[in-house]
Amino acid sequence: MSDLTILMKATNFAAIKHKDQRRKDTEGTPYINHPIGVANYLTQAGVTDLDVIQAALLHDTVEDTETTLEELKIHFGEKVASIVAEVTDEKGQEKHERKRLQIIHARHASKEAKLVKLADKLYNIKDLERCLPTGWTNERRDEYFKWAAKVVSGCRGTNLELENQIDEVLTRNGLVNPKEIVLEANEMD
Ligand code: NDP
Ligand code: ZN
Repeated sequence: MSDLTILMKATNFAAIKHKDQRRKDTEGTPYINHPIGVANYLTQAGVTDLDVIQAALLHDTVEDTETTLEELKIHFGEKVASIVAEVTDEKGQEKHERKRLQIIHARHASKEAKLVKLADKLYNIKDLERCLPTGWTNERRDEYFKWAAKVVSGCRGTNLELENQIDEVLTRNGLVNPKEIVLEANEMD
């Protein structure tokens, strides 16, 4: 299969899986804009690893749809499935705990998973900067920025371009020095 065929297959798979979902913004943007945007940030930042780009396109399918890792393995191979597994929250945990675990897991993730995480966080913080989701307060958005900075702290040294863009957004939104964000004791391993 050519690289182009592989990319279109992953894009199409994600589009089908996310077809009934919308983002949380007030406009209800189609969800698929997000994984495509994440993959686009990666290629714009110079990432050419096809497994990483496929994983970016597919990164929310297991967490947010009925898709299984087994299904991803069959269609896209072991490597892509394992990157998606690394960026998928454990089901069954309550939300606050999931967020704490993301901070811890980020620093132990593979380089490939860190790339997807960085681009995912960049997309989400830019989305939040663009528009406050329905029902969110400014405080909740600020909490999200702080949490994102903590996840990103475990992914640093992976892609400077993405990291610089993230720091710009976070600084613009009130974080004094995102690079020096301090983790709580229970956010470290
Ligand atoms: P989140 O706060 O995690 O929502 C953000 C997630 O939603 C993103 O990571 C992104 O994930 C997805 N998303 C969809 N649309 C958008 C968008 N337009 N902009 C940015 N992100 C978007 O929501 P949860 O409900 O999962 O989290 C609950 C947590 O929020 C609790 O742990 C609690 O700590 C906190 N909370 C705080 C409140 C407060 O008032 N301070 C109130 C309620 C909860 P993806 O990449 O997967 O699409
Ligand atoms: Zn995502």
